[in-house]
Amino acid sequence: MDIAIVGAGAAAVGLLDTLAATAHSPGTITVFEPSPHLWRGRPYGPDLDAVLVNAPPALMSIRHWDFGHYAAWLGPRGAVHLDERLGRPLVPRALYGEYLAHTAETALAALCGDGRRVRVVTCRVTGATRSGPRWSLRTEDGRAHEADHVALCVGGGTPRDHYGLDGAPGYVDDPYPLARTLERVPPGSDVLVIGSGLTAVDVVVSLAARGHTGPITLLSRSGVLPHVWQRPAGHRPRHMTAERVAALHQERGSVTLDDLVGLLRAELAEAGEAFEELEADLLATGTDDPARRLRSQLAAVDDPRVGRRVLQETAHSVGPYAWRLLPEPDRVRLRRHFRLATSVASPMVPVNAATLTRLLDAGQLSLVAGVRKIEAADGVFRVHGDDGERGFDAVVNAVNPPPRAIPRAAGPLVSALVADGAAELHPDGGLVPADPRLHVVGDLAGGGSFITSSIAGTAAQAARAAHTIVTAG
Ligand SMILES: Cc1cc2nc3c(=O)[nH]c(=O)nc-3n(C[C@H](O)[C@H](O)[C@H](O)COP(=O)(O)OP(=O)(O)OC[C@H]3O[C@@H](n4cnc5c(N)ncnc54)[C@H](O)[C@@H]3O)c2cc1C
Repeated sequence: MDIAIVGAGAAAVGLLDTLAATAHSPGTITVFEPSPHLWRGRPYGPDLDAVLVNAPPALMSIRHWDFGHYAAWLGPRGAVHLDERLGRPLVPRALYGEYLAHTAETALAALCGDGRRVRVVTCRVTGATRSGPRWSLRTEDGRAHEADHVALCVGGGTPRDHYGLDGAPGYVDDPYPLARTLERVPPGSDVLVIGSGLTAVDVVVSLAARGHTGPITLLSRSGVLPHVWQRPAGHRPRHMTAERVAALHQERGSVTLDDLVGLLRAELAEAGEAFEELEADLLATGTDDPARRLRSQLAAVDDPRVGRRVLQETAHSVGPYAWRLLPEPDRVRLRRHFRLATSVASPMVPVNAATLTRLLDAGQLSLVAGVRKIEAADGVFRVHGDDGERGFDAVVNAVNPPPRAIPRAAGPLVSALVADGAAELHPDGGLVPADPRLHVVGDLAGGGSFITSSIAGTAAQAARAAHTIVTAG
């Protein structure tokens, strides 16, 4: 069997790792990737040491069936990167990229040892058509490549230029790698960061690490910062599990949001906690002062209550499965809380929260809302908002694309697959295969949950896709 894998980021690594453990038939595996940083994708290439992974090791294993895989690779090196508040190592993302590269290379060696011919083509795939049982992929150099199965592992979208600033001197459209983009931001300059999610947090801590002395302002429409990770408490959910959701589905033929709330209530009741208390705290996210909330969350890293921990974990483990079973009106209800859900499901690490708090306390960092327009003229950015006009020297775009956005580099390929009838665009974003020999792994997979995927979710998808490919033969 000939397998084509388009993209060589974390999703491709998870796929290859499972294929190496399960696929024993002869054939070829061809991986297409234009970037020089194989296996690292957009987030895990070389960058500043201040740019850290956003989750503890148990959630960063790319081997779905072995949560300890990444921690074992890290070994004693983890001690150097210990986040003392979290009690877990949080390494620079570039170091995590080494783990991905090591895992991929080990898998490729095993596949070669098993008689597979493995090839990496350093080219972007721009088209795909079907001819009988075979695929023909076209790369941008005009060559054609044949395969039986195609796995799209092309990642998510890139930031959008909401204020039409592209090309303006002093404007950073896509902040990664921060080691390169922040070189264009003078240390004493007055910087505006558009956004207040995890990317904005990366920008702020990286500016701080480079010794930035000028004021930093986060522009946030929602006024919501990511929540802060709590120290793992060793709690294993007993009610909020995929098994319980599957059982409800089997019993009743459907699963509603109220059912999921019921499972969470049971989980909390067993731990002696009130659901209403957690609910009230979460709903205050949109109205609380974000700086005050950040300080109180940093102080609650050791809080023994499990409520938020259960939500954080199950948003990625049970969430994508439960999402597919929910009736549309319940999905609409959840989507209304997108910013809150994202801030809970993708929290910032305590070490970053401490940096933000320090900068807020020192008056160097502030948050603003209510901006209507940003104009670039004569080397200055004029920001027009509810509180009048203000000038900035530099602007860094940290607005993440919506989940399931089509990455620019995969645009022509996705259009070709849709035109061929091999896939359909999902109404909520992303791509849904219409051919059993096409597989989508990662954020582009249509029909998935309304929040952006994580390593844990991507690893689960990759393992599933590998099993489907191996079983199909
Ligand atoms: C900045 C950032 C930080 C993150 N940090 C974390 C974290 O700490 N923890 C966590 O759990 N999750 C994190 N995530 C979420 C998730 O882990 C990552 O998005 C992960 O990298 C997804 O892997 P992927 O392989 O799906 O996509 P990517 O890593 O983006 O890889 C996709 C690859 O496909 C290639 N490609 C695209 N189009 C084509 C084409 N047409 N032909 C050939 N190749 C193509 C690209 O060049 C790229 O290398 C982060 C996401 C981002 C964006």
